[in-house]
Amino acid sequence: MAETVKTEEKVEKVEKAEKQEKAEKVVAVKKYRKPSKKKVCAFCVAGEKTIDYKDVAKIRKYITEKGKILPRRQTGVCAYHQRELCTAIKRARNIALLPYVGD
Ligand SMILES: [Zn+2]
Repeated sequence: MAETVKTEEKVEKVEKAEKQEKAEKVVAVKKYRKPSKKKVCAFCVAGEKTIDYKDVAKIRKYITEKGKILPRRQTGVCAYHQRELCTAIKRARNIALLPYVGD
């Protein structure tokens, strides 16, 4: 009788250890993040100082399907060009080159 109790305890201990190992693995997977390549501002690379609001093809890349302006952290545009881009998009919207609200 005493022996069976002992074996049960052992089994429980093993199970607990396995559970802990699994949990640790999950945490490790969650913590791991692929080191992202540093994005470079496309406008700086092209050497453009101003952004033309009539150049819809270029501006299109910086708005979502719904027509929202994408944040800098997603596109990698520098602060200066993000400001220029913002006004360009707003001007383009005003003369109906770009939508205020997309589908
Ligand atoms: Zn830039």
